[in-house]
Amino acid sequence: MIDVLVVGAGIAGLTTAALLAREGCAVTLLEAHHQTGGCAGTFRRGPYVFDVGATQVAGLEPGGPHARLFARLGVPAPAATPLDPGCVVDLADGSPPVALWRDPARWREERERQFPGSGAFWSLCDRLQAATWAFAERDPILPPRSWWDLTQLLRALDPALLATGILTTSSMVDLLRLTGAARGPGGARLRRFLDLQLRLYSQEPADRTAALYGATVLSIVQEPRGLWHPLGSMQTLSAALEEALAAHGGVLRLRHRVRRLRPPSTPDPRWIVDGEGPKGEAFTMRARDVVVSLPPQTLPDLLGEALPTGWRRRLERLNEPSGALVFYGAVERRHLHAAVASHLQLDWADPGSLFVSVSQEGDGRAPRGEATVIASVFTPSRPWFGLEEAAYQARKRLAMAGIQAGLQRLLGLEAHHWRHGELATPRGWQGWTGRPGGGVGGLGQHPWRSGLLGLPSRTPLPGLWLCGDSIHPGEGTAGVSASAEMVCRQVLQARRSRP
Ligand SMILES: Cc1cc2nc3c(=O)[nH]c(=O)nc-3n(C[C@H](O)[C@H](O)[C@H](O)COP(=O)(O)OP(=O)(O)OC[C@H]3O[C@@H](n4cnc5c(N)ncnc54)[C@H](O)[C@@H]3O)c2cc1C
Repeated sequence: MIDVLVVGAGIAGLTTAALLAREGCAVTLLEAHHQTGGCAGTFRRGPYVFDVGATQVAGLEPGGPHARLFARLGVPAPAATPLDPGCVVDLADGSPPVALWRDPARWREERERQFPGSGAFWSLCDRLQAATWAFAERDPILPPRSWWDLTQLLRALDPALLATGILTTSSMVDLLRLTGAARGPGGARLRRFLDLQLRLYSQEPADRTAALYGATVLSIVQEPRGLWHPLGSMQTLSAALEEALAAHGGVLRLRHRVRRLRPPSTPDPRWIVDGEGPKGEAFTMRARDVVVSLPPQTLPDLLGEALPTGWRRRLERLNEPSGALVFYGAVERRHLHAAVASHLQLDWADPGSLFVSVSQEGDGRAPRGEATVIASVFTPSRPWFGLEEAAYQARKRLAMAGIQAGLQRLLGLEAHHWRHGELATPRGWQGWTGRPGGGVGGLGQHPWRSGLLGLPSRTPLPGLWLCGDSIHPGEGTAGVSASAEMVCRQVLQARRSRP
């Protein structure tokens, strides 16, 4: 007898399933793909292992959210090295690139040199991030949708956080204006830097990123936090969660695509989940609770008529998530600068700013003497759909050439240095992850769409729950793990309060 069915074995679904199994629930995790990991998975091409989307992990430092999660699950955290610098941002304006150092004092010096006149902006960000990290560590439920959720939120509040309350609907650009940094000598460069960095974490530029969220993620590189480069590949994160799930008696079913969710009908209080197994055969499973880790845009199809009208309207009004173009390449290491950073950003016009990950020697991604180079660009998804095959291929070739040109400029490469190159478009992302329209990264962290105003994990249908990157606190492997921890607490509380 299954207590909880979890749909989707990306980091959010794996974490939910492993945590609930650890709490004694009989959990089955259903994954459409032949492997787990979703956007944080990997694929192999000849001698190379490519991280499909996520390439770095936050929170593996002692006491960090991922480290605490693995300790709680009783499995070793994946081996990883700290990134220092966490990223090197080239604003393509002829000035030296900005290095996000791990040491807070070194980062302070760097930002003062790079963005003169921005001291008050950074001090305000530091105060905001200290309050929001402390709030996050007290496990709030956001946004609350029941009395119990509200009690969890209220007990996480403290005076420092309440003082930030007036900035709840402010954006990062409001902070620049408030502190005078926008008018300072380094104001224009700082704005461009923020646009680039925030796009990675919030899917939005600085004027559309919530101030509390933006200030928080901007501190993610520095100690006592940090970004980490997993050894082997990103798949080690999913593998560790799979290990925890199995150790606590949970069941993972790969190649099981869920097609329909049917609400309970008396006298059976269980949800009915229909889908297709590995050979296309139909399956039906029942469980009292179902946690969906897929994007909420999948719910109209999954629930059909069972989706309450008010909720359907809310889902229809959701902004269209961003798509991604990701280039997977490989070069001989001798063509790269000896001290090339593992993660870089380049302000690039066509097809857009590049986030670049270069593998490290001996990290399991490329043969000795070679390196994988991955570059992602966030882009609207829609133009990639509805094209004739020839037009699609032409568009793809153009985008790939644009990305390679940017990489050649950033890394000092020449066109003939590429030993491998291929591009994933939003169409490919839709196929790989089952995300509608290939949309990645959740709903974005706009001031009017995040935190209290975000989408709740508790749905109006009892026993149906959500987690993943559209749920607080948003995208990123550490973000979706936090959404999973939050929904687990809600499921366990609901189970305790049922007759
Ligand atoms: C290009 C790119 C770069 C990124 N870089 C980073 C980074 O460096 N660091 C970082 O922390 N984060 C990064 N992210 C974000 C991070 O990868 C995601 O936020 C996170 O992995 C999302 O996890 P998830 O579990 O919510 O969703 P997903 O990873 O999408 O998992 C959902 C799972 O559900 C499965 N599924 C879909 N439909 C069905 C169905 N009907 N039935 C059963 N299963 C189904 C899918 O196959 C998938 O495995 C990046 C994302 C992208 C796209």
